[in-house]
Amino acid sequence: MGSSRRSFMKLSAEAAALLAVAPLACSRANRMVAPGLGEGTGWEPGYLALERSGELAARAERLWGMLASCELCARRCGVNRLAGETGVCSSTSRLKVHGAAPHFGEEPPLVGRRGSGTIFFSNCNLLCCYCQNWEINHRGDGSFLAIEALAEMMLELQQRGCHNINVVTPTHVVPHIVQAVRQAIPRGLRLPLVYNTGGYDNPEVIALLAGIVDIYLPDFKYQDGEAAARYSAGARDYPEVAAAVIREMHRQVGVLEVDERGVARRGLLIRHLVLPHNLAGTDRFVRWVAAELGPETAVNIMSQYRPEYRAVDIPELSRRLTPEEWRQALTWAREAGLTNLV
Ligand code: SF4
Repeated sequence: MGSSRRSFMKLSAEAAALLAVAPLACSRANRMVAPGLGEGTGWEPGYLALERSGELAARAERLWGMLASCELCARRCGVNRLAGETGVCSSTSRLKVHGAAPHFGEEPPLVGRRGSGTIFFSNCNLLCCYCQNWEINHRGDGSFLAIEALAEMMLELQQRGCHNINVVTPTHVVPHIVQAVRQAIPRGLRLPLVYNTGGYDNPEVIALLAGIVDIYLPDFKYQDGEAAARYSAGARDYPEVAAAVIREMHRQVGVLEVDERGVARRGLLIRHLVLPHNLAGTDRFVRWVAAELGPETAVNIMSQYRPEYRAVDIPELSRRLTPEEWRQALTWAREAGLTNLV
């Protein structure tokens, strides 16, 4: 069951394996391409072709320029992050990272045998009241990092055998991520990039990521704007935004593809966390996926909701799911005809 964005702080064993938020000691000679990916296999991540054509440099420049009047996400704050201003995500143009580690709690196609190479960015643009990583996403725990160090982290995760680079809560730091990928390419980066987002992105920014991101891993949290506004810091247009974002992701990468080992290398996988009292609109969500994207779309319907952070004080969110609520969610998915529940 996918859980990285929600349970990272709680995975103490994995936390012990965190890569330091600092330049890592890893000689270039020791770096290797992960088994089954990259050199010699005939497969390569999309960003390599874009780098060869010069397009990746152009996109990186355009994305960095957006920091001057930030509309990187659907909040469209318009603040000048390059000048130190901050919007809803509390982030200037300085990169802040909580940590990175091979993670084994994601969906099986992302984990494989060697883990998903997760990198957790500090702060968030969505700010859900039930966030299970509130120390990172709301409080902003983490350390400021140079982009060179982020590139080094990616290479270290590859060296450790991870199957992908999984950027968690990436929306407000897309320019930094693309620049880091560019810096890591000549030093051997060959892993697919997983864009692991809460779904409140700017569809125009997602369009700029075409060919850069191989695997999209968005949440689709709500079908109702009232719920989105109440539980995610006023994001009333979340249902429309997430639908547009996910349609664009699907247009770019299509159905989830796996290699001969069952490890994902391209495609879309949508996460949906079932909430008490059907506040996430699970019945409408599964019908939307089947009708808009097709019943073969990979979907992870998640049962692990628990009241965290401010949700303990919100009566309708202050308990876990009942067994009946979970059974009902799976029944809706089956009735909608979804065939690829991960
Ligand atoms: S990333 Fe989103 S929340 Fe952050 S400043 Fe830009 S538009 Fe605002």
